Amino acid sequence: MEEMGEFPVTSLEALRQPLEEGVIRVSRAGGTVTFPARFLLVAAMNPCPCGEGVYPGSCRCSDAERARYTRRLSAPLLDRFDLVVPLSRPDPAALLDVTPGGSTAASAARVAAARQMAAARPAGREAPMHPDAARLLALKLRDGALTARGLHKVSRVARTVADLMGVERVSEEHVSDALCLRTARATVAP
Ligand SMILES: [Zn+2]
Repeated sequence: MEEMGEFPVTSLEALRQPLEEGVIRVSRAGGTVTFPARFLLVAAMNPCPCGEGVYPGSCRCSDAERARYTRRLSAPLLDRFDLVVPLSRPDPAALLDVTPGGSTAASAARVAAARQMAAARPAGREAPMHPDAARLLALKLRDGALTARGLHKVSRVARTVADLMGVERVSEEHVSDALCLRTARATVAP
């Protein structure tokens, strides 16, 4: 979904059921039909309607416009995303830099190895977690930074981070990485 903040609230909220259950139920007078709907949702939006909101002094939106825009994404909907990552505009020097980055083949090999590690784990068995990692999760849950659903999602992302590093036990650092990849909302500079 491009420009997620421009979609009507009713459309956005309708995503909650398929994201959670992998199905869409349509109820009419004649009965209810269930359609399969397992999908990977990738969405992008600007920090505010004019798109300049991350740069102090550049935003042309009123407070009301900014509030209306970010309110479209309810907390329960955001909670269903595994990763929420604020992006900033790339530095022009970085765009002009022609130094080759990591190869796609090397990244694909890392992902394949991580998937293999995950697949080798017996189904239903929780991966081992360092006590410090579990403590950090419990702290975030207690202080309200994580919901029960969020806790489950962060644990899974932390597990993936550990798998990508080829480490069997989830550490506090893996949990911190997973928490950083789930920053609630990009802050909007007035
Ligand atoms: Zn703006």
